Amino acid sequence: MKKSMMMLLFTALLLFLIPMHTQAAAKQTKIFLDGQELVLPHSVEVVNIRNNIMIPIRVVAENLKFNVNWDKKTQNVHIQQGSKAISLTVGKNEALVENDTVTLNVAPQMIKNTVVVPMRFVSEEMGLSVGWNNKDKLVTLSSNTSLPSEPSNESGIEAATNQIHEINYASNQLVVSLDQEITPVITTLQNPERIVVDFPSTNLGDMGQALSGGAMGRLDTSESPNITDIRYSLFKNDPAQVRIVIELNNVRSVNYEQQTIAGKFILDLSMVNEPVPITPVSSGKKIVVIDPGHGGSDPGTTSFSKKPEKIFALALGLKVQALLQQESGIEVIMTRETDIYPTRSERVKLANDLKADVFVSIHGNSVKAAPQVSGTETYYYQRESSKELANLIHHNLIKALGFKDRSVRNGNYQVIRETTMSAVLLEIGFLSNKSEEEAMMSETNQNKAAQAIVDGIKEYLTL
Ligand SMILES: [Zn+2]
Repeated sequence: MKKSMMMLLFTALLLFLIPMHTQAAAKQTKIFLDGQELVLPHSVEVVNIRNNIMIPIRVVAENLKFNVNWDKKTQNVHIQQGSKAISLTVGKNEALVENDTVTLNVAPQMIKNTVVVPMRFVSEEMGLSVGWNNKDKLVTLSSNTSLPSEPSNESGIEAATNQIHEINYASNQLVVSLDQEITPVITTLQNPERIVVDFPSTNLGDMGQALSGGAMGRLDTSESPNITDIRYSLFKNDPAQVRIVIELNNVRSVNYEQQTIAGKFILDLSMVNEPVPITPVSSGKKIVVIDPGHGGSDPGTTSFSKKPEKIFALALGLKVQALLQQESGIEVIMTRETDIYPTRSERVKLANDLKADVFVSIHGNSVKAAPQVSGTETYYYQRESSKELANLIHHNLIKALGFKDRSVRNGNYQVIRETTMSAVLLEIGFLSNKSEEEAMMSETNQNKAAQAIVDGIKEYLTL
């Protein structure tokens, strides 16, 4: 009983710590269950409703081997595993758990044909421990919460059977050799940025002897510029718990993947470094930030031939980057150069922190209900300087690609609204239009579009 109270308090605390985020920002969340990323149905999103992280119940329950039944007429979700039964109804704050009434903070909601319920409810009623990494928008669910309960012997020392024999770090990989497979609980913390890997019911084997009295062991990370420090310790006794902390150095964002191979737990890190700070005064160059839209867990729209917008945006963005790098008067900075997802706020902050001169966000348009619609649209937000930049790039794009001119427009998009420099958002063409998609995906046209964007930027900067 004590343990479940603790879990409840912990969860409450965790949820309390989650900063308010708009629905837009919560869209790109990934869910990991026991280290495996859950494949979410295409339309499924994790949303934040009044500070409650809402997760799709079916995909989680099914992965936990619960049976899930949906009654469309009554809007009821029935979840069953053995004698454990949970009954939830869309729009109703009260759920039935093994015939007891449980009140939910937020009633289950139907969002895009998927029932979502508060993460807290899932944690409490389905016996999962939950983690939420706000920065990378990761929900971590762990069913491995059945830690040994109270110690059975009087001495109070719980003999953890699992032991760690070796911990190594090289080439962005943490490798932990264990007696038995176990799914650690991974959390990320900030200030400084670090990844905490907790192995429940696990002791330090032979390597623990070097550590006396709760001391910490350290790995040599001198070959890894992105790592400040990796330390490990027997974090808790009774039951034993080993904690490994990876402290990151100068990293803007980090993604990780975990797997277990032949008794070794492997954590693969992929990190994006902070850009080297540029001082406009000393370089004398104009700073241009190119923002390929979406990325990573956010695919953007889907094209006529079912390709994600993020691929088009990145392909064109990299071509623009390559051309701008040849300009001696321009310093080009990318918000992303790979398939990752910086949040919109992070993109804005990057450009504002750099005191950039120009910000260009690259997108592909879509209107699935009207696949005949085609053409180029260019957006600015209110500022005259942005409008001027928009006009110049738009004119060049129309000339280069020959798409229908759907005009320069005032648009209230976060990346052009909150940036403080001349900022535009380009909807190069309609990916939902069959022939326009084909044109947009062709190398030749992407090169033409990239040149047009660069020409517009140069005209604007009078270079
Ligand atoms: Zn877009």
